[in-house]
Amino acid sequence: MENEYVKEITSKSQDFSQWYVDVILKAELADYSPVRGCMVIRPYGYAVWENMQKLLDARFKSTGHKNAYFPLFIPESLLKKEAEHVEGFAPEVAWVTHGGQEELAERIAVRPTSETIICSMYSKWIKSWRDLPVLINQWCNVVRWEKSTRPFLRTAEFLWQEGHTAHRTEEDAEEETLKMLEIYRDFVETDLALPVIKGRKSENEKFAGALRTYTIEAMMSDGKALQAGTSHNLGQHFSKVFDITFLDQDGQLKNVWQTSWGVSTRLIGAIIMTHGDDRGLKLPPKIAPVQVIIVPISSQKKDMVLNKAAEIFARLKQDFRLEMDDRDEYTPGWKFNEWEMKGVPVRLEVGPKDIEKHQVILVRRDTGEKISVDESEINSKLKSLLDEIQVNMFRQAKRFMDENTREIEDFEEFKKVIEEKRGFIKTHWCENGDCEKFIKEQTGATLRCIPFEQDAGPGRCIVCGKEANKVVYFAKSY
Ligand code: AMP
Ligand code: ZN
Repeated sequence: MENEYVKEITSKSQDFSQWYVDVILKAELADYSPVRGCMVIRPYGYAVWENMQKLLDARFKSTGHKNAYFPLFIPESLLKKEAEHVEGFAPEVAWVTHGGQEELAERIAVRPTSETIICSMYSKWIKSWRDLPVLINQWCNVVRWEKSTRPFLRTAEFLWQEGHTAHRTEEDAEEETLKMLEIYRDFVETDLALPVIKGRKSENEKFAGALRTYTIEAMMSDGKALQAGTSHNLGQHFSKVFDITFLDQDGQLKNVWQTSWGVSTRLIGAIIMTHGDDRGLKLPPKIAPVQVIIVPISSQKKDMVLNKAAEIFARLKQDFRLEMDDRDEYTPGWKFNEWEMKGVPVRLEVGPKDIEKHQVILVRRDTGEKISVDESEINSKLKSLLDEIQVNMFRQAKRFMDENTREIEDFEEFKKVIEEKRGFIKTHWCENGDCEKFIKEQTGATLRCIPFEQDAGPGRCIVCGKEANKVVYFAKSY
Protein backbone atom coordinates (compact mmCIF):
# COMPACT_ATOMS: atom_id res chain seq x y z
CA MET A 1 0.00 0.00 0.00
CA GLU A 2 1.60 3.24 -1.12
CA ASN A 3 0.58 6.70 -0.05
CA GLU A 4 -1.39 7.26 -3.23
CA TYR A 5 -4.08 4.78 -2.17
CA VAL A 6 -5.21 7.21 0.48
CA LYS A 7 -4.73 10.68 -0.96
CA GLU A 8 -6.40 12.59 1.81
CA ILE A 9 -7.40 11.46 5.26
CA THR A 10 -11.18 11.76 5.56
CA SER A 11 -12.12 14.34 8.17
CA LYS A 12 -12.84 12.85 11.57
CA SER A 13 -16.08 14.77 12.06
CA GLN A 14 -17.32 13.84 8.61
CA ASP A 15 -16.88 10.07 8.84
CA PHE A 16 -15.13 8.69 11.92
CA SER A 17 -14.93 5.07 10.68
CA GLN A 18 -13.45 6.07 7.35
CA TRP A 19 -11.04 8.45 9.08
CA TYR A 20 -9.84 5.55 11.28
CA VAL A 21 -9.16 3.28 8.31
CA ASP A 22 -7.53 6.08 6.30
CA VAL A 23 -5.11 6.81 9.14
CA ILE A 24 -4.16 3.14 9.49
CA LEU A 25 -3.52 2.70 5.78
CA LYS A 26 -1.84 6.01 5.16
CA ALA A 27 0.43 5.85 8.20
CA GLU A 28 1.28 2.28 7.14
CA LEU A 29 0.40 0.75 10.47
CA ALA A 30 -1.47 -2.15 8.91
CA ASP A 31 -3.04 -3.35 5.69
CA TYR A 32 -5.94 -5.57 4.73
CA SER A 33 -5.00 -9.15 3.87
CA PRO A 34 -6.48 -11.80 1.59
CA VAL A 35 -7.70 -13.66 4.71
CA ARG A 36 -11.13 -12.90 6.13
CA GLY A 37 -10.93 -10.59 9.14
CA CYS A 38 -7.13 -10.78 9.34
CA MET A 39 -4.83 -7.80 8.89
CA VAL A 40 -1.15 -7.48 8.15
CA ILE A 41 0.67 -5.43 10.76
CA ARG A 42 3.27 -3.44 8.84
CA PRO A 43 6.70 -2.55 10.27
CA TYR A 44 5.61 0.85 11.60
CA GLY A 45 2.61 -0.66 13.40
CA TYR A 46 4.63 -3.62 14.60
CA ALA A 47 7.23 -1.27 16.08
CA VAL A 48 4.46 0.29 18.19
CA TRP A 49 3.47 -3.21 19.37
CA GLU A 50 7.11 -4.06 20.19
CA ASN A 51 7.43 -0.93 22.31
CA MET A 52 4.22 -1.83 24.12
CA GLN A 53 5.45 -5.38 24.67
CA LYS A 54 8.71 -4.16 26.20
CA LEU A 55 6.98 -1.85 28.65
CA LEU A 56 4.40 -4.43 29.70
CA ASP A 57 6.80 -7.34 29.83
CA ALA A 58 9.05 -5.41 32.23
CA ARG A 59 6.06 -4.88 34.53
CA PHE A 60 5.14 -8.59 34.39
CA LYS A 61 8.70 -9.67 35.17
CA SER A 62 9.05 -7.22 38.03
CA THR A 63 5.97 -8.76 39.64
CA GLY A 64 7.43 -12.26 39.44
CA HIS A 65 5.93 -13.60 36.20
CA LYS A 66 7.81 -15.71 33.66
CA ASN A 67 7.10 -16.23 29.98
CA ALA A 68 6.39 -19.60 28.40
CA TYR A 69 4.84 -20.96 25.22
CA PHE A 70 1.96 -23.42 24.76
CA PRO A 71 0.60 -25.03 21.55
CA LEU A 72 -1.58 -23.12 19.09
CA PHE A 73 -3.92 -26.14 18.87
CA ILE A 74 -6.36 -27.41 21.46
CA PRO A 75 -8.04 -30.83 21.14
CA GLU A 76 -11.83 -30.54 21.19
CA SER A 77 -12.11 -32.74 24.28
CA LEU A 78 -9.97 -30.29 26.28
CA LEU A 79 -11.83 -27.21 25.11
CA LYS A 80 -15.14 -28.83 26.08
CA LYS A 81 -14.22 -29.62 29.64
CA GLU A 82 -15.37 -26.37 31.23
CA ALA A 83 -19.01 -26.00 30.21
CA GLU A 84 -19.49 -22.22 30.46
CA HIS A 85 -16.15 -21.64 28.78
CA VAL A 86 -16.93 -23.73 25.71
CA GLU A 87 -20.45 -22.33 25.48
CA GLY A 88 -19.11 -18.77 25.53
CA PHE A 89 -16.44 -19.40 22.92
CA ALA A 90 -18.23 -21.90 20.65
CA PRO A 91 -19.50 -19.32 18.13
CA GLU A 92 -15.97 -17.95 17.66
CA VAL A 93 -13.82 -21.06 17.41
CA ALA A 94 -11.99 -21.98 14.19
CA TRP A 95 -11.60 -25.74 13.77
CA VAL A 96 -8.95 -27.86 12.11
CA THR A 97 -10.57 -30.98 10.67
CA HIS A 98 -7.86 -32.33 8.40
CA GLY A 99 -4.14 -33.00 8.60
CA GLY A 100 -2.90 -33.29 5.04
CA GLN A 101 -5.34 -35.59 3.26
CA GLU A 102 -6.52 -37.30 6.39
CA GLU A 103 -9.59 -36.40 8.35
CA LEU A 104 -8.72 -36.09 12.02
CA ALA A 105 -10.33 -38.47 14.51
CA GLU A 106 -10.82 -35.52 16.85
CA ARG A 107 -11.28 -31.93 15.73
CA ILE A 108 -8.64 -29.47 16.89
CA ALA A 109 -9.46 -25.88 17.86
CA VAL A 110 -7.18 -23.00 17.00
CA ARG A 111 -6.82 -21.38 20.43
CA PRO A 112 -9.29 -18.56 21.09
CA THR A 113 -7.58 -18.29 24.53
CA SER A 114 -5.41 -20.84 26.34
CA GLU A 115 -7.02 -21.60 29.71
CA THR A 116 -7.79 -25.20 28.78
CA ILE A 117 -4.46 -26.25 27.31
CA ILE A 118 -2.58 -24.51 30.11
CA CYS A 119 -4.77 -26.08 32.80
CA SER A 120 -4.12 -29.53 31.37
CA MET A 121 -0.42 -28.89 31.97
CA TYR A 122 -0.86 -27.29 35.38
CA SER A 123 -2.62 -30.44 36.59
CA LYS A 124 0.63 -32.27 35.80
CA TRP A 125 3.01 -29.69 37.22
CA ILE A 126 1.30 -28.72 40.44
CA LYS A 127 1.52 -31.27 43.25
CA SER A 128 2.28 -29.47 46.47
CA TRP A 129 1.74 -26.07 48.12
CA ARG A 130 5.47 -25.57 47.47
CA ASP A 131 4.73 -25.41 43.72
CA LEU A 132 2.49 -22.37 44.21
CA PRO A 133 1.98 -19.76 43.05
CA VAL A 134 2.53 -20.50 39.37
CA LEU A 135 2.91 -17.17 37.56
CA ILE A 136 3.15 -17.68 33.80
CA ASN A 137 2.55 -15.35 30.88
CA GLN A 138 2.44 -16.15 27.18
CA TRP A 139 2.91 -13.74 24.25
CA CYS A 140 1.14 -15.21 21.25
CA ASN A 141 -1.60 -15.01 18.64
CA VAL A 142 -5.16 -16.23 19.10
CA VAL A 143 -8.06 -16.70 16.70
CA ARG A 144 -11.69 -15.73 17.29
CA TRP A 145 -14.05 -16.00 14.33
CA GLU A 146 -15.59 -12.58 14.91
CA LYS A 147 -18.70 -11.68 12.90
CA SER A 148 -17.67 -8.15 12.12
CA THR A 149 -14.08 -7.02 12.20
CA ARG A 150 -12.16 -3.76 12.19
CA PRO A 151 -8.35 -3.38 12.01
CA PHE A 152 -6.71 -3.64 15.46
CA LEU A 153 -9.97 -3.25 17.42
CA ARG A 154 -11.49 -6.56 16.49
CA THR A 155 -9.70 -8.96 14.18
CA ALA A 156 -10.13 -12.69 13.62
CA GLU A 157 -6.51 -13.30 14.51
CA PHE A 158 -4.87 -10.97 17.00
CA LEU A 159 -1.68 -10.71 19.02
CA TRP A 160 -1.85 -10.52 22.76
CA GLN A 161 -0.41 -11.68 26.02
CA GLU A 162 -2.29 -13.97 28.33
CA GLY A 163 -1.27 -14.43 31.94
CA HIS A 164 -2.31 -17.65 33.68
CA THR A 165 -1.68 -18.06 37.36
CA ALA A 166 -2.47 -20.62 40.04
CA HIS A 167 -2.65 -19.93 43.77
CA ARG A 168 -3.09 -21.61 47.10
CA THR A 169 -5.97 -19.51 48.38
CA GLU A 170 -8.93 -17.58 47.11
CA GLU A 171 -7.46 -14.38 48.60
CA ASP A 172 -4.17 -14.87 46.76
CA ALA A 173 -6.00 -15.29 43.45
CA GLU A 174 -8.14 -12.20 44.03
CA GLU A 175 -5.05 -10.19 44.96
CA GLU A 176 -3.32 -11.30 41.74
CA THR A 177 -6.38 -10.47 39.62
CA LEU A 178 -6.51 -6.93 40.99
CA LYS A 179 -2.74 -6.48 40.88
CA MET A 180 -2.69 -7.24 37.15
CA LEU A 181 -5.65 -4.95 36.50
CA GLU A 182 -3.70 -2.18 38.23
CA ILE A 183 -0.65 -2.97 36.07
CA TYR A 184 -2.84 -2.59 32.99
CA ARG A 185 -4.26 0.70 34.26
CA ASP A 186 -0.80 2.04 34.99
CA PHE A 187 0.56 0.93 31.60
CA VAL A 188 -2.39 2.22 29.60
CA GLU A 189 -2.56 5.56 31.43
CA THR A 190 1.16 6.33 31.76
CA ASP A 191 2.56 4.83 28.59
CA LEU A 192 -0.35 5.03 26.16
CA ALA A 193 -1.84 8.23 27.64
CA LEU A 194 -5.30 6.62 27.65
CA PRO A 195 -7.46 7.40 30.69
CA VAL A 196 -9.58 4.49 31.85
CA ILE A 197 -12.29 3.54 34.32
CA LYS A 198 -11.41 0.59 36.50
CA GLY A 199 -14.14 -1.75 37.62
CA ARG A 200 -15.90 -5.09 37.49
CA LYS A 201 -17.93 -6.56 34.63
CA SER A 202 -21.53 -7.58 35.24
CA GLU A 203 -22.50 -11.26 35.23
CA ASN A 204 -23.80 -10.86 31.67
CA GLU A 205 -20.56 -9.38 30.41
CA LYS A 206 -18.00 -11.47 32.27
CA PHE A 207 -15.53 -13.88 30.65
CA ALA A 208 -16.91 -17.34 29.88
CA GLY A 209 -15.85 -19.54 32.77
CA ALA A 210 -14.75 -16.78 35.14
CA LEU A 211 -15.93 -16.18 38.67
CA ARG A 212 -15.41 -12.43 38.28
CA THR A 213 -14.05 -10.30 35.44
CA TYR A 214 -12.41 -6.93 36.02
CA THR A 215 -11.87 -4.44 33.26
CA ILE A 216 -10.39 -1.11 32.29
CA GLU A 217 -12.71 0.82 29.98
CA ALA A 218 -11.50 3.61 27.72
CA MET A 219 -13.44 6.20 25.73
CA MET A 220 -12.70 6.75 22.07
CA SER A 221 -12.97 10.25 20.64
CA ASP A 222 -16.33 9.48 19.00
CA GLY A 223 -17.73 8.83 22.48
CA LYS A 224 -17.82 5.04 22.20
CA ALA A 225 -16.36 2.82 24.91
CA LEU A 226 -13.62 0.28 24.37
CA GLN A 227 -12.70 -2.57 26.67
CA ALA A 228 -8.97 -1.98 26.94
CA GLY A 229 -7.93 -4.89 29.15
CA THR A 230 -9.41 -7.62 31.31
CA SER A 231 -8.33 -9.57 34.36
CA HIS A 232 -10.31 -12.62 35.43
CA ASN A 233 -10.61 -14.35 38.75
CA LEU A 234 -11.35 -17.90 37.55
CA GLY A 235 -12.03 -19.21 41.03
CA GLN A 236 -11.85 -23.02 40.99
CA HIS A 237 -13.99 -23.50 37.85
CA PHE A 238 -11.10 -24.76 35.77
CA SER A 239 -9.08 -26.39 38.52
CA LYS A 240 -12.04 -28.65 39.35
CA VAL A 241 -12.65 -29.89 35.81
CA PHE A 242 -8.93 -30.14 35.02
CA ASP A 243 -8.18 -31.68 38.39
CA ILE A 244 -5.45 -29.26 39.41
CA THR A 245 -4.87 -30.25 43.01
CA PHE A 246 -2.10 -29.79 45.53
CA LEU A 247 -1.24 -31.18 48.91
CA ASP A 248 -1.53 -28.25 51.30
CA GLN A 249 0.54 -27.65 54.44
CA ASP A 250 -2.26 -29.16 56.51
CA GLY A 251 -1.94 -32.43 54.61
CA GLN A 252 -5.19 -31.98 52.68
CA LEU A 253 -5.63 -32.27 48.92
CA LYS A 254 -7.08 -29.00 47.57
CA ASN A 255 -7.92 -27.39 44.26
CA VAL A 256 -5.90 -24.35 43.20
CA TRP A 257 -7.43 -20.90 42.64
CA GLN A 258 -6.69 -19.36 39.26
CA THR A 259 -6.54 -16.12 37.34
CA SER A 260 -6.05 -15.10 33.73
CA TRP A 261 -5.54 -11.66 32.18
CA GLY A 262 -4.88 -10.23 28.75
CA VAL A 263 -4.42 -7.20 26.56
CA SER A 264 -4.15 -7.27 22.79
CA THR A 265 -3.21 -5.36 19.65
CA ARG A 266 -6.61 -3.72 20.16
CA LEU A 267 -4.73 -1.16 22.24
CA ILE A 268 -3.11 0.19 19.07
CA GLY A 269 -6.61 0.90 17.78
CA ALA A 270 -7.36 2.68 21.06
CA ILE A 271 -4.32 4.92 20.63
CA ILE A 272 -5.36 5.86 17.10
CA MET A 273 -8.98 6.54 18.01
CA THR A 274 -8.24 8.48 21.18
CA HIS A 275 -5.39 10.69 20.12
CA GLY A 276 -5.57 11.00 16.33
CA ASP A 277 -6.84 14.09 14.50
CA ASP A 278 -7.53 15.27 10.95
CA ARG A 279 -3.81 15.40 10.23
CA GLY A 280 -3.49 11.73 11.13
CA LEU A 281 -1.89 9.77 13.89
CA LYS A 282 -0.66 11.21 17.17
CA LEU A 283 1.56 8.81 19.07
CA PRO A 284 2.43 9.08 22.77
CA PRO A 285 6.24 9.53 23.02
CA LYS A 286 6.69 6.44 25.20
CA ILE A 287 5.58 4.07 22.45
CA ALA A 288 6.30 6.10 19.30
CA PRO A 289 8.71 4.17 17.00
CA VAL A 290 10.16 7.54 15.98
CA GLN A 291 10.11 10.10 18.80
CA VAL A 292 11.97 12.81 16.94
CA ILE A 293 12.25 13.38 13.20
CA ILE A 294 15.08 15.60 12.01
CA VAL A 295 14.26 17.57 8.88
CA PRO A 296 17.15 19.56 7.41
CA ILE A 297 15.93 22.67 5.55
CA SER A 298 18.58 22.82 2.92
CA SER A 299 17.70 24.84 -0.15
CA GLN A 300 20.84 26.94 0.38
CA LYS A 301 24.17 26.01 1.95
CA LYS A 302 23.13 22.40 1.58
CA ASP A 303 26.36 20.74 2.71
CA MET A 304 26.60 22.87 5.80
CA VAL A 305 22.99 22.09 6.79
CA LEU A 306 23.29 18.36 6.15
CA ASN A 307 26.54 18.20 8.10
CA LYS A 308 24.96 19.98 11.02
CA ALA A 309 21.90 17.72 10.91
CA ALA A 310 24.14 14.65 10.87
CA GLU A 311 26.10 15.99 13.82
CA ILE A 312 22.91 16.54 15.81
CA PHE A 313 21.61 13.11 14.82
CA ALA A 314 24.80 11.46 16.09
CA ARG A 315 24.60 13.37 19.35
CA LEU A 316 20.95 12.46 20.05
CA LYS A 317 20.75 8.89 18.85
CA GLN A 318 21.81 7.36 22.17
CA ASP A 319 18.96 8.95 24.04
CA PHE A 320 16.03 9.03 21.63
CA ARG A 321 14.37 6.98 18.92
CA LEU A 322 15.04 9.32 16.05
CA GLU A 323 15.29 9.42 12.31
CA MET A 324 16.62 11.85 9.77
CA ASP A 325 14.62 12.71 6.68
CA ASP A 326 17.28 13.99 4.26
CA ARG A 327 15.50 12.74 1.13
CA ASP A 328 16.19 15.06 -1.77
CA GLU A 329 13.05 14.35 -3.73
CA TYR A 330 10.58 15.86 -1.23
CA THR A 331 10.11 19.45 -0.09
CA PRO A 332 10.28 20.29 3.61
CA GLY A 333 6.54 21.08 3.57
CA TRP A 334 5.73 17.64 2.21
CA LYS A 335 7.91 16.03 4.86
CA PHE A 336 6.24 18.03 7.64
CA ASN A 337 2.84 16.70 6.59
CA GLU A 338 4.14 13.19 6.22
CA TRP A 339 5.66 12.97 9.72
CA GLU A 340 2.70 14.70 11.31
CA MET A 341 0.47 12.14 9.64
CA LYS A 342 2.67 9.38 11.08
CA GLY A 343 2.21 10.86 14.54
CA VAL A 344 5.85 11.59 15.40
CA PRO A 345 5.76 13.62 18.66
CA VAL A 346 8.53 16.14 17.81
CA ARG A 347 10.00 17.52 14.59
CA LEU A 348 13.45 19.02 14.75
CA GLU A 349 14.18 21.53 11.98
CA VAL A 350 17.60 22.84 11.18
CA GLY A 351 18.29 25.44 8.45
CA PRO A 352 21.03 27.92 7.50
CA LYS A 353 19.60 30.72 9.67
CA ASP A 354 19.31 28.43 12.68
CA ILE A 355 22.91 27.36 12.28
CA GLU A 356 24.04 30.98 12.28
CA LYS A 357 22.19 31.50 15.55
CA HIS A 358 23.43 28.17 16.99
CA GLN A 359 19.91 26.94 17.44
CA VAL A 360 17.33 24.46 16.14
CA ILE A 361 13.54 24.58 15.96
CA LEU A 362 11.42 21.97 17.75
CA VAL A 363 7.78 21.54 16.69
CA ARG A 364 5.28 19.70 18.88
CA ARG A 365 2.82 17.32 17.21
CA ASP A 366 0.28 17.62 20.04
CA THR A 367 -0.04 21.42 20.03
CA GLY A 368 1.78 22.58 16.88
CA GLU A 369 3.89 24.89 19.03
CA LYS A 370 7.32 25.90 17.66
CA ILE A 371 10.19 26.31 20.08
CA SER A 372 13.71 27.64 19.35
CA VAL A 373 16.34 25.85 21.37
CA ASP A 374 19.98 26.61 21.80
CA GLU A 375 22.14 23.86 20.28
CA SER A 376 23.81 23.10 23.57
CA GLU A 377 20.45 22.40 25.20
CA ILE A 378 18.74 20.18 22.63
CA ASN A 379 19.21 17.00 24.58
CA SER A 380 17.76 18.14 27.87
CA LYS A 381 15.01 20.17 26.19
CA LEU A 382 13.92 17.18 24.11
CA LYS A 383 13.75 14.99 27.20
CA SER A 384 11.51 17.39 29.06
CA LEU A 385 9.44 18.15 25.97
CA LEU A 386 8.67 14.47 25.31
CA ASP A 387 7.61 14.07 28.95
CA GLU A 388 5.42 17.12 28.66
CA ILE A 389 3.78 15.86 25.46
CA GLN A 390 3.10 12.50 27.09
CA VAL A 391 1.40 14.18 30.04
CA ASN A 392 -0.48 16.66 27.88
CA MET A 393 -1.89 13.90 25.68
CA PHE A 394 -3.22 12.11 28.73
CA ARG A 395 -4.69 15.35 30.08
CA GLN A 396 -6.47 16.11 26.81
CA ALA A 397 -7.96 12.63 26.62
CA LYS A 398 -8.98 12.76 30.27
CA ARG A 399 -10.72 16.09 29.78
CA PHE A 400 -12.62 14.62 26.83
CA MET A 401 -13.66 11.60 28.85
CA ASP A 402 -14.79 13.72 31.80
CA GLU A 403 -16.74 16.08 29.54
CA ASN A 404 -18.48 13.12 27.94
CA THR A 405 -19.39 11.33 31.14
CA ARG A 406 -22.90 12.24 32.25
CA GLU A 407 -24.84 11.37 35.36
CA ILE A 408 -28.38 10.51 34.32
CA GLU A 409 -31.20 9.03 36.38
CA ASP A 410 -34.09 9.26 33.90
CA PHE A 411 -34.49 6.58 31.24
CA GLU A 412 -35.94 8.87 28.53
CA GLU A 413 -33.00 11.20 28.94
CA PHE A 414 -30.64 8.20 28.91
CA LYS A 415 -32.03 7.14 25.51
CA LYS A 416 -31.71 10.62 24.11
CA VAL A 417 -28.15 11.17 25.29
CA ILE A 418 -26.95 7.75 24.04
CA GLU A 419 -28.48 8.50 20.65
CA GLU A 420 -27.35 12.11 20.27
CA LYS A 421 -24.17 12.47 22.28
CA ARG A 422 -22.85 9.00 23.12
CA GLY A 423 -20.19 9.01 25.87
CA PHE A 424 -20.42 7.28 29.24
CA ILE A 425 -23.63 7.40 31.21
CA LYS A 426 -23.27 6.98 34.95
CA THR A 427 -26.45 5.75 36.52
CA HIS A 428 -27.92 3.69 39.35
CA TRP A 429 -28.59 0.02 38.67
CA CYS A 430 -30.24 -2.58 40.90
CA GLU A 431 -27.80 -5.34 39.85
CA ASN A 432 -30.56 -7.32 38.15
CA GLY A 433 -29.43 -8.70 34.77
CA ASP A 434 -32.91 -8.16 33.29
CA CYS A 435 -32.70 -4.39 33.80
CA GLU A 436 -29.28 -4.42 32.16
CA LYS A 437 -30.60 -6.41 29.18
CA PHE A 438 -33.57 -4.06 28.86
CA ILE A 439 -31.22 -1.11 28.47
CA LYS A 440 -29.19 -2.96 25.86
CA GLU A 441 -32.31 -3.84 23.84
CA GLN A 442 -33.78 -0.35 24.06
CA THR A 443 -30.66 1.71 23.48
CA GLY A 444 -27.82 -0.47 22.20
CA ALA A 445 -25.73 0.57 25.21
CA THR A 446 -24.02 -2.08 27.31
CA LEU A 447 -22.96 -2.06 30.93
CA ARG A 448 -19.25 -1.29 30.63
CA CYS A 449 -18.33 -1.68 34.26
CA ILE A 450 -19.27 -1.37 37.90
CA PRO A 451 -16.55 1.10 38.89
CA PHE A 452 -14.46 0.52 42.00
CA GLU A 453 -14.90 4.16 42.79
CA GLN A 454 -18.47 4.46 44.08
CA ASP A 455 -18.96 8.14 44.80
CA ALA A 456 -22.70 8.68 44.31
CA GLY A 457 -24.31 6.89 47.26
CA PRO A 458 -27.54 4.87 47.01
CA GLY A 459 -30.37 5.71 44.61
CA ARG A 460 -33.01 4.03 42.44
CA CYS A 461 -32.48 1.75 39.44
CA ILE A 462 -32.94 3.69 36.22
CA VAL A 463 -35.07 0.86 34.78
CA CYS A 464 -37.17 -0.70 37.56
CA GLY A 465 -36.99 2.06 40.15
CA LYS A 466 -36.01 -0.34 42.91
CA GLU A 467 -33.39 0.59 45.47
CA ALA A 468 -29.93 0.51 43.93
CA ASN A 469 -26.66 0.67 45.78
CA LYS A 470 -24.43 0.73 42.76
CA VAL A 471 -23.61 3.39 40.20
CA VAL A 472 -22.46 1.89 36.89
CA TYR A 473 -21.23 3.02 33.48
CA PHE A 474 -23.24 2.36 30.34
CA ALA A 475 -22.08 3.20 26.80
CA LYS A 476 -22.21 2.18 23.20
CA SER A 477 -19.03 0.31 22.52
CA TYR A 478 -16.70 -1.14 19.93
P1 AMP B 1 -10.84 -11.69 26.82
O1 AMP B 1 -10.00 -12.93 26.78
O2 AMP B 1 -12.10 -11.83 26.05
O3 AMP B 1 -11.02 -11.14 28.19
O4 AMP B 1 -10.00 -10.59 26.01
C1 AMP B 1 -8.70 -10.24 26.40
C2 AMP B 1 -8.28 -8.97 25.73
O5 AMP B 1 -8.27 -9.10 24.31
C3 AMP B 1 -9.25 -7.84 26.05
O6 AMP B 1 -8.48 -6.72 26.37
C4 AMP B 1 -10.04 -7.64 24.80
O7 AMP B 1 -10.39 -6.32 24.69
C5 AMP B 1 -9.09 -8.11 23.71
N1 AMP B 1 -9.82 -8.71 22.57
C6 AMP B 1 -10.87 -9.56 22.64
N2 AMP B 1 -11.29 -9.89 21.39
C7 AMP B 1 -10.49 -9.25 20.51
C8 AMP B 1 -10.40 -9.20 19.07
N3 AMP B 1 -11.23 -9.90 18.29
N4 AMP B 1 -9.43 -8.44 18.51
C9 AMP B 1 -8.57 -7.74 19.30
N5 AMP B 1 -8.60 -7.76 20.64
C10 AMP B 1 -9.53 -8.50 21.27
ZN1 ZN C 1 -33.54 -2.57 38.07
